[in-house]
Amino acid sequence: MGRVRKEMVYAGTPVSGGIVFGPIHVVARGFSAPDVYPIANVARETERFEDALRRTHGQLKGLREHMESLSGNEEGRIFEAHMLVLEDPIVLTGVPKAIEERRQNAEYCFYAVMQNQLESMRRIPDPFLRDRTTDIEDVCQRVLRNFDTEHEEPASDDPDHLHILVAYDLSPSATATMNRHQVLGFATEQGSVTSHTAILARSLGIPAVVGLRNAVFNLHALDSCILDGYEGKLISNPTPETVARYRELEEEHQRRRAELDKLRDLKAITTDGHAIILSANIKSEDELDLVNRSGAEGVGLFRTEFFLLEKEECPYEEEQAALYSRVARRAAPSEVIFRTLDAGGDKLPGEPLSEPEPNPFLGWRGIRFSLDRKDLFKEQLRAILRAGTAGRVGLMFPLISGLGEVKQAKSLLAECVAELTARGVEFNQNIAVGAMIEVPSAAMIAADIASEVDFFSIGTNDLVQYTVEVDRVNPRVAKLYRSAHPGIVRLIKMVIDGASQHNIWTGVCGEMASDLILLPLLVGLGVDELSVGAPLAPLVKQAVRLLDFEKCSTLADQCLQAAETKQIVQLCSNVATAAYPELIQEGSGGSSAPSFAVHPA
Ligand code: PEP
Ligand code: MG
Repeated sequence: MGRVRKEMVYAGTPVSGGIVFGPIHVVARGFSAPDVYPIANVARETERFEDALRRTHGQLKGLREHMESLSGNEEGRIFEAHMLVLEDPIVLTGVPKAIEERRQNAEYCFYAVMQNQLESMRRIPDPFLRDRTTDIEDVCQRVLRNFDTEHEEPASDDPDHLHILVAYDLSPSATATMNRHQVLGFATEQGSVTSHTAILARSLGIPAVVGLRNAVFNLHALDSCILDGYEGKLISNPTPETVARYRELEEEHQRRRAELDKLRDLKAITTDGHAIILSANIKSEDELDLVNRSGAEGVGLFRTEFFLLEKEECPYEEEQAALYSRVARRAAPSEVIFRTLDAGGDKLPGEPLSEPEPNPFLGWRGIRFSLDRKDLFKEQLRAILRAGTAGRVGLMFPLISGLGEVKQAKSLLAECVAELTARGVEFNQNIAVGAMIEVPSAAMIAADIASEVDFFSIGTNDLVQYTVEVDRVNPRVAKLYRSAHPGIVRLIKMVIDGASQHNIWTGVCGEMASDLILLPLLVGLGVDELSVGAPLAPLVKQAVRLLDFEKCSTLADQCLQAAETKQIVQLCSNVATAAYPELIQEGSGGSSAPSFAVHPA
């Protein structure tokens, strides 16, 4: 038997609640991992590894000779260097040792050993040494291709099928397309609470922890593991006592969730009768069942970029109209608000850039991209107008920074109305048109923008990032990301006041809307709608039902006078813990995950 490994606890940032148990699957950067499975015959696996090395050596030698015959010694040296990689003690002794200890197949052990090596090199400041990783990756891929395919059959109950994914980082699109039936939960070294990867995990209900430093280095594939998305922990090789304790905890959480689910059909209304619209944030049609089950009153934010940018080519008007109409029909009679394409930032670019942007979050994203790519934008606008006949539909523009952008976008919308009329296609001209307020300059002129639109939706994820100047995806500065900053509270107040002057409503669709500590403040400031990840809707609804609007208004007045974040957090925390102490505990890492990263001690 391989060595029994000790229980280890890794602490990170909780971003999506839930406790799951399963084997680990480690995905490193660079190239994809081969299958991993347990083996019984160590000698046979070691032989397979040595065969693969021999084959690779022969091929490299052939390539060196070929290059030398074509262009002399210089080019041949590249392959000489590749051959040296195969002779490195890390390869020659490290891999057999890993096979012996891990009792896993040779190709996976080779991959794991080399990935650790490569990961160390990628983190070296010296650019020359960092560049060498490309060569080593090349050799590694060649070795992996050279493993014979006759090997021990993986057991039919191969635990790799159901696993906890551990990765250096995951892109939003990798998270969005993750196989929910295989991935029990995930943990990454990078990421923060408001990165799109974390937001998607919450809206899909996948337990997740980010910011686990060096996890890729230290964890072994197939090790049994517990992922605690409430507390932000990953426990590898847990003892039977730890497993029993976590099973009990998870049962307790599930029992509380079942209680909350019973509130499904009740309204989000405070004890003194103040009603809030509680809606859901989604990014695909598949999440509509979850929305309907959650008791959310419609969709406050449909992030269309995942549908639009996942394919090679942006879908045309017809395909978009079909999707938006299906969504509107399934959500009816509730409203669905489609946000027009918000490409860029940490999401997929709208089109391949010839060179990377130095500051993608300050660059070509959101409405700026759409106004520069009018044809694409108009396809989407026409599709949304057409979906307006299938149900209650609204649309909103992302990353508005000034009045001019709203006017331009609306004038393109008017062109679309004229075009659809000319074509004789059915559409609804009277859909609600909103602006997302997520840039400080827009918040400051909210009253002017309000005269041009039917509603506001405050995107706090970006508003906080741009106001306190903290990158929302960088774990190094995550502790500086403060939703409760006095500047944010005052900006939100300006937005709500600007909206009231023109009798339009204001929602919040950023992650702050599901932060249970700050919820009394948002309610007290006079927010009309909260849009949250669907799995969190029951929790937020119950919290609203336990609040008193009068008290929340007093709290908001006090927070508007406060000059320091910690005062605001303390004031909100007093009200929240008096109203729903048990919900705050339940929300840990789930709905109120932002609380932990956002509020300083
Ligand atoms: C926001 O910025 O708060 C928002 C909802 O938009 P996104 O998170 O998609 O940028
Ligand atoms: Mg945003």
